[in-house]
Amino acid sequence: MDWEYIDFVREFNPGNFPPASWEKSFHIVISDGEILSIDGAPWRPLNQDEWQWLGIEGKSSHYLGDVAGIPVFAEEVHSESDEPAGHAFDTLWSFLGQVDEPVFYLVGRAKQIVEWHRTHRFCGECGQETVLSDSDRSRKCLACGHMYYPKLSPSIIVLITKGEEVLLAKNANTRANFYSTLAGFVEPGESIEETVHREVMEEVGIKVKNLKYYNSQSWPFPNSLMLGFHAEYDSGEIVIQEEEIADAQWFHYKNMPNKPAMISISGWLVDDYIKRLEAGKV
Ligand SMILES: [Zn+2]
Repeated sequence: MDWEYIDFVREFNPGNFPPASWEKSFHIVISDGEILSIDGAPWRPLNQDEWQWLGIEGKSSHYLGDVAGIPVFAEEVHSESDEPAGHAFDTLWSFLGQVDEPVFYLVGRAKQIVEWHRTHRFCGECGQETVLSDSDRSRKCLACGHMYYPKLSPSIIVLITKGEEVLLAKNANTRANFYSTLAGFVEPGESIEETVHREVMEEVGIKVKNLKYYNSQSWPFPNSLMLGFHAEYDSGEIVIQEEEIADAQWFHYKNMPNKPAMISISGWLVDDYIKRLEAGKV
């Protein structure tokens, strides 16, 4: 089965342990957080022969699951590895919007697992070496028994609405000139609904009500899990938190600024609200 004909939504089966043997395989090669691409072709991982003859020594190998029955591995190589002729290492950002979404998430999964492995080789509790578990995707310290799982940072992202208006904000820490939904990390001890109320109050000083969970998105920069909400305006005037927000305003849905891209949950939230408004379902 060729990579370009695989239906990833239906045919990717995540897994932690490879089968006993296989004839074909796919390899996503990662060096210092960047992903190997083949020059002049739409992105695909290397096949077994290409990986074997690439001429770069692998540092660690991680089974991700199979696509259409073919095992897929994330291959970490040494960060000083030269780019082999006809190949280049590219950032994960360069994949956004350039590959199909399921492929983007698979590459994001590969990068996150390699990074988790690389940064958890030693126990944070006692400093001894950790080893991979043979029962799940975790690393265990043999000296003190501490377990380490791949790191994920849950965050909320929320579109605040007031009838035909939506609240969008410009981030103070990026040069990009576009307005987006509010977002923030979940803190220990909080429910995700509490995070929404706290973040909205901190960033724009208003109260919201009637939170409705929308959907979620893996956002591997570096390891967020975005949990999307719609929320209705309740009370208060916009007062921005200047360290985080450069500007925040209510925009009529027919007069929006540069909107968030449709590759992100921020864009999906805005799009979903406008569709419902136009269908008279708000
Ligand atoms: Zn330990």
